[in-house]
Amino acid sequence: MKSLERNIVRKAGRAIGDFGLIEDGDRVMVALSGGKDSWTLLHVLEALRRKAPVRFGIVAVTVHPGFPGFRSDDVEDWLREHGFEYHIERSNMYGVIAEKMGPEEGGWCSFCARLRRGILYRLAGELSCTKVALGHHADDLIETLLMSALYNGELRSMPPKLLAEDGRNVVIRPLCYVSEAETAEFARANGFPVINCGCPVCGGSAMKRHKVKALLNKLESEDPGIKDSLLAALGNIKPKYLMDKRFY
Ligand code: SF4
Repeated sequence: MKSLERNIVRKAGRAIGDFGLIEDGDRVMVALSGGKDSWTLLHVLEALRRKAPVRFGIVAVTVHPGFPGFRSDDVEDWLREHGFEYHIERSNMYGVIAEKMGPEEGGWCSFCARLRRGILYRLAGELSCTKVALGHHADDLIETLLMSALYNGELRSMPPKLLAEDGRNVVIRPLCYVSEAETAEFARANGFPVINCGCPVCGGSAMKRHKVKALLNKLESEDPGIKDSLLAALGNIKPKYLMDKRFY
């Protein structure tokens, strides 16, 4: 456990240094969905906060999406018991999504993500946060790269640091070098109260992300190192060898 924690904290620290994710005086809002990744993010940032030379604060924010069965009380109990500053925001995302998109139709996820982002950005302002930290890990980055290429005809992923579309909020992803296997093991070993989002479409085998994840895991089992190579490719782009006319 100790070496796993050291490894994850070291990778997060490297990401923070490589991409300038956290600066002195920052107040970082950790978007805590209650899943394994966001719990890992919260604890890793807290570990770094305690020993980092830069001074920064953390506030955990959980948006209750309104899905029946979402146990924000479990999240709140843990945060209170462990002394974290936190905020639980109750929303009616479920009602809005179901009304606009129809029952469990395609397009739920992009609409849901937009709604959630809007709530988080508003809360960042209200809570005086200077950065919004998300728990996306290395597997999320490479899955998004493949999904974007396979389904949307674009080469893009999730950057470690991004000025949001509103021009005010800065989104950071300190776990961009950490694998999903590591967050899963870390969350299990620490006994975090991992909760389900309660969404009726979550985890469905028809989800594109689910298919891409399965494909990547199959390739990785046949040729270990493929995931690391894809992650490295994100930081080693050669536009001159692609076909984007804007680079000619
Ligand atoms: S699976 Fe459900 S909770 Fe997750 S992004 Fe899609 S609609 Fe939202």
